[in-house]
Amino acid sequence: MRTIPATQRRTPALDVAVVGGGMVGAAAALALSRAGFSTALLEAREPAPWHPQDDVDLRVVGLAPSSIKLLDELGVWTSIRDARACPYAHMHVWDAQNGASIDFDAADEGRNLLGYIVENNLVQWKLWQALDAAGVQRLCPVTVKDFETRADRVVLELADGESVSVRLLVAADGGNSPLRERAGIATSGRDYSQRAVVAHVTTERPHAHACWQRFLPAGPLALLPLADGRSSIVWSLPESEARRVLSLDDEAFVKELGVASDFRLGRVTATTRRAAFPLKLQLASTYQAERFVLLGDAAHVVHPLAGQGVNLGLRDVAELRDVLAAARDEGRDFSSTSVLNRYARRRRSADTLDARSFDALARIYAWQSAPWVMARGLGIRLVDRLRPLKQRLATHAAGL
Ligand SMILES: Cc1cc2nc3c(=O)[nH]c(=O)nc-3n(C[C@H](O)[C@H](O)[C@H](O)COP(=O)(O)OP(=O)(O)OC[C@H]3O[C@@H](n4cnc5c(N)ncnc54)[C@H](O)[C@@H]3O)c2cc1C
Repeated sequence: MRTIPATQRRTPALDVAVVGGGMVGAAAALALSRAGFSTALLEAREPAPWHPQDDVDLRVVGLAPSSIKLLDELGVWTSIRDARACPYAHMHVWDAQNGASIDFDAADEGRNLLGYIVENNLVQWKLWQALDAAGVQRLCPVTVKDFETRADRVVLELADGESVSVRLLVAADGGNSPLRERAGIATSGRDYSQRAVVAHVTTERPHAHACWQRFLPAGPLALLPLADGRSSIVWSLPESEARRVLSLDDEAFVKELGVASDFRLGRVTATTRRAAFPLKLQLASTYQAERFVLLGDAAHVVHPLAGQGVNLGLRDVAELRDVLAAARDEGRDFSSTSVLNRYARRRRSADTLDARSFDALARIYAWQSAPWVMARGLGIRLVDRLRPLKQRLATHAAGL
């Protein structure tokens, strides 16, 4: 993969620099370039190449139809799907304390499937492979240390002493976003004091191309279907419990997992190594500053219980591309405050609504006193029977 050497990094009068080449930043760079903006992508770490012979990476995501649509528009979806992706057509969510459950079925929505489970590094790799052909300048590995906003451009200062000038800086530099901090944009939210333990497991019964999620008093446990027949788990647990579960030997771990999953897919018979990720809700107070926008986890970090983090990020990408392209086509300055404001307002309100809903779900499922558990059960059963409401929820999750 070609990386531009330091000596060639002088990039006069580029339209956009995207900082952060994760799934969201790479998609943003590709989308903006395809829309006709001269674009550079700056990333601190060279992404690890994805090889079909490697085991399924531990980090996977559920991609909603809106994300698949964007990746398809960018010309990368077919190669991601054909490489290794598992479609799912059904979702079963149940409550460990009262037995109430809710089901979502693609057929009820008149669709073939609800989404796909894919490896993060596969999505990122295919996007990176498409960047060259699209004419995106890739600067990697480079760390953006600082930036200075001038009347007609933003000057990015790189850790190696080089600088890059652009009309618009797009920060997709992840949840800890150094650029968001540098722009002085505050965040609000809360630390869940939980970690999501992830692993791939083999189960006695097949996953049947369904996502299974059980809400336990300590947090949700999801089993997501993988293309090779195994399931990927995302098990949210309080910090100390997560540490304990990580330290179990494989035999004890699969035993506990079988119990926690209510043996829904039978016994868990094997596991890969495990990893854990801290969970928080974090929302940027604005997505915009002068010649500067935020997107992806840099703008919003949400609880993984709804499997929507990167889907929201990819919706940011589609909106940013559409808003900037429309402004340019109307003969307006695409980097002006009023244009950026349109993107920022639309996406921040949509993301905030979703993030708060996921947070409300996490809170509701944490109720443990008997009357509240019973009330929750009644509510879940009611939603499961109200077809129009369920359809609206499913359409919203699809992002279409
Ligand atoms: C356990 C778990 C399960 C999840 N499951 C789902 C799911 O099912 N569905 C879903 O939609 N989402 C899911 N998510 C959320 C999803 O993983 C994230 O939303 C997504 O990975 C964020 O991508 P990003 O590109 O915004 O940020 P990142 O992937 O964090 O990328 C940021 C990039 O910026 C680079 N960078 C940072 N600072 C600089 C700098 N100064 N200069 C240059 N580069 C820099 C970093 O090296 C990094 O590559 C899950 C999250 C977790 C923790």
